[in-house]
Amino acid sequence: MLNFDTMEMIAEGNTKVIYANPEDAKSVYMVFKDDITAGDGAKHDILEGKAAVDWRTNRDIFEYLNRMGIRTHYLSSPEEKVSLVRKLDRKINLEVVSRRVAAGSILGWGNVNEGDRYDPVITQFHYKDDPLHDPMLDDGYVDYIIREKGSTEYAEMRQINEAVMIHLEKAFAHFGIQLIDFKLEYGIIDGQVYLIDEISGGSFRLWPYKTDNPNLDQANVLPELNPDGRLDKDTYRMGEDLDKVINKFEAIANITSGFEDL
Ligand code: C5P
Repeated sequence: MLNFDTMEMIAEGNTKVIYANPEDAKSVYMVFKDDITAGDGAKHDILEGKAAVDWRTNRDIFEYLNRMGIRTHYLSSPEEKVSLVRKLDRKINLEVVSRRVAAGSILGWGNVNEGDRYDPVITQFHYKDDPLHDPMLDDGYVDYIIREKGSTEYAEMRQINEAVMIHLEKAFAHFGIQLIDFKLEYGIIDGQVYLIDEISGGSFRLWPYKTDNPNLDQANVLPELNPDGRLDKDTYRMGEDLDKVINKFEAIANITSGFEDL
């Protein structure tokens, strides 16, 4: 067992703690916590068992993405609730959201119906700041930076997000689940953009198919899906019992355990 009491704590966030790896300056340990938050930290609970379940989901997803050739910080999962990841040179203070199907905050944009399908997917950049409620960066500004400033970081984050959408959507489809949307984070290691952070029960929306063979090739796919059977953190955001929330997170981990064979 690793002894974190003797290790230097580098950072503590809502859902995990980062420790320096005493044996390797180029990697750090990411330790999952049982905490769950929503509404930019306004709602907070301790959900017993969540750390272990999210650790499994995160491991299975990152190992799958690494096999698919996505550039991620993930190295290994040496023991329960602990992942070993590459140490960042610089964190990029953004949340990068991709959407295949309209749900959640995009429904407030007007002219959007729940279940509208986006192909290509929509990708948005949000500045990470809880008191400001993670404001979205203007798309024109993001394109301007990419085009005029020659910055490749935004273009690369968008490209990686969209590749992750394609891979994970395909993976969840094997289990009769539609990946609706997700949020990812990025950092710089050795001058390159890497997918970082965790990808776990709270990172995405997952809605089961209504039938075995849904027709997903249409402008609105809501009739093909069962949002009431959602497996994701919306269960928590909507105020369901914590028992139900942990059951959903367990269901996700049981599905991603099958990613090994894909
Ligand atoms: O709330 P919204 O519809 O913008 O969320 C889009 C996706 O990003 C959802 O899958 C949600 O779970 C995820 N998200 C997140 N962390 C946030 C905001 C959104 O994981 N701070």
